[in-house]
Amino acid sequence: MDLVKYVERKRKLAERLEQELGSRASQVRSDHHARRPPRPCGMTVHTGIGCPMACVYCYIYDMGFPAKVKPYPLTGKEMLYALVVNPYFAPGPGGTMIAMGAVSEPFLPETRDRTLEYLREFGTIKNPVQISTKLTLDDDTIFKIAEHVPHISFLMTIVALRDYRKLEPKAPPPEERIETCRRLINVGIHVSAFIRPIIPGFTDRDAEDILNLCKSAGIRTVVLGTLRVTKRIFENLKRVGVDLSDRVRKLSATEQVPIRGSDLKESIAKLAEKLGFRVYEAACGANIEAAGLGCVACEWGPCGDVNKIPDVSERDIVELSKELGFDVSVKFRNKDREIVVEVRRGRDTKLLQVWLKELTRRRVIVKMLGR
Ligand code: SF4
Repeated sequence: MDLVKYVERKRKLAERLEQELGSRASQVRSDHHARRPPRPCGMTVHTGIGCPMACVYCYIYDMGFPAKVKPYPLTGKEMLYALVVNPYFAPGPGGTMIAMGAVSEPFLPETRDRTLEYLREFGTIKNPVQISTKLTLDDDTIFKIAEHVPHISFLMTIVALRDYRKLEPKAPPPEERIETCRRLINVGIHVSAFIRPIIPGFTDRDAEDILNLCKSAGIRTVVLGTLRVTKRIFENLKRVGVDLSDRVRKLSATEQVPIRGSDLKESIAKLAEKLGFRVYEAACGANIEAAGLGCVACEWGPCGDVNKIPDVSERDIVELSKELGFDVSVKFRNKDREIVVEVRRGRDTKLLQVWLKELTRRRVIVKMLGR
């Protein structure tokens, strides 16, 4: 498989967009989307700054984001350029995963148009794209999503049914969100139930009903995730009847601490599997599946279709590494699922690691020779 084509595509795209953006290009290059490495779920893209939804379990307010929202200042073309010039980003089908919706709600009246603008641009490069929301969508938005990024992975957050309003005071009823999922599925969109964060006493109590409703809407994939809390989230949850004192030891004002919740996650996973769902422990699994790919890059895999894990040779990796400025030798191990790369020359080994993980969809171990 020719991996060097991703570098060539990146150069050509950057040149074209730079010409189109003119003097604005240098400002865009200073945006954090143009610099930071991807998170485990992919390259996170902010469609807005802040969020007024005030969900009780939300961590963004501890990260300094405001409780009101404005659209992210980059236009669609500018955001595409920011990603394309980001050294860690590989553009194209099978390239770096994109994830939207992590630190703001992408379908608020203030952010919807910006989100659609980003989706339209991301659709042109065909990278795997994922978006999460807890809002309902009108037909126009649904048709535009399907038109711009038909291979998108759509995550609908549902963490409670009966008492959802205590946790998500400004979100629409879960039944209406599930109805939106049905309409998305009708136009061919891959939709997953995003049962994250699992809130003890709420999510586990309603899990079976949530899953049955999702199943009847045509959803076949579930992404699960446990809760992380700061002191503020811990206290807010306590006020609505969630006592986590036996699930978390040490709290921090700003740092998110994971609660002990694997028992709940496992029981919901079992229930979901019994009902015929594919269950993923990380959101990127659903992104891989929606994009028609396969991945064994971490212990949570395999995700998607194992027959679709890219067919790459040692030579493909050596050539890509050379293009990125590295002189390496390569070994496959663990039945071809792991790649060990020994670097003789080259600097930013994180960059090499990120590119190889994203493009080979395998676990990559990079060793610097002589250190
Ligand atoms: S194996 Fe699955 S969970 Fe792990 S990185 Fe790949 S898609 Fe994500």
